[in-house]
Amino acid sequence: MLPRRRCPFCRRWFRPHPRLKERQKSCGRHECRREQKRRFNQKWRNEHPDYFRGTYALQKEKYGTRAEGKRRYREQHPDYLRRNAVFVRHWRQKVRQVPVSPTSSDPRLSFGCETTSKPVSM
Ligand SMILES: [Zn+2]
Repeated sequence: MLPRRRCPFCRRWFRPHPRLKERQKSCGRHECRREQKRRFNQKWRNEHPDYFRGTYALQKEKYGTRAEGKRRYREQHPDYLRRNAVFVRHWRQKVRQVPVSPTSSDPRLSFGCETTSKPVSM
C-alpha cells in the first residue's frame, strides 16, 4: 500500500490511487483538483507564452476582417441580400406595431395604465 501524503491545498491526509501513485498531486476533492488544474494551466501558459497569441492576426491575414468577410459574402450571395431585406422590413413593421412602454427597456413588454401603453402610430 502506498504511503499517506498530505494534500498541498486542503492539508488533509490522503492515500494516492494505486494506478496514479506519486503522480497524484491532490487529495482528489473537487476544489483541490480544480486548484491543481488551475496552477498547472498557469504554469503551462508561462512556459508557452506565445501559444495563444497571434491566432486572430493569422486568421485576419488569411481570411480578412469579419466586416470584409461579410461584405464578400453579401457580394457573392445576392439572394441572401434580398431575403434579408424582406426579413428586416417585416421585423421593422412588427416592432412599430408593438406598444412602447415608457418605463420598460424591452419594447415588447408593456406595463402600467391604459393611457401610457397605447400604441403610437407613426
Ligand atoms: Zn485536498
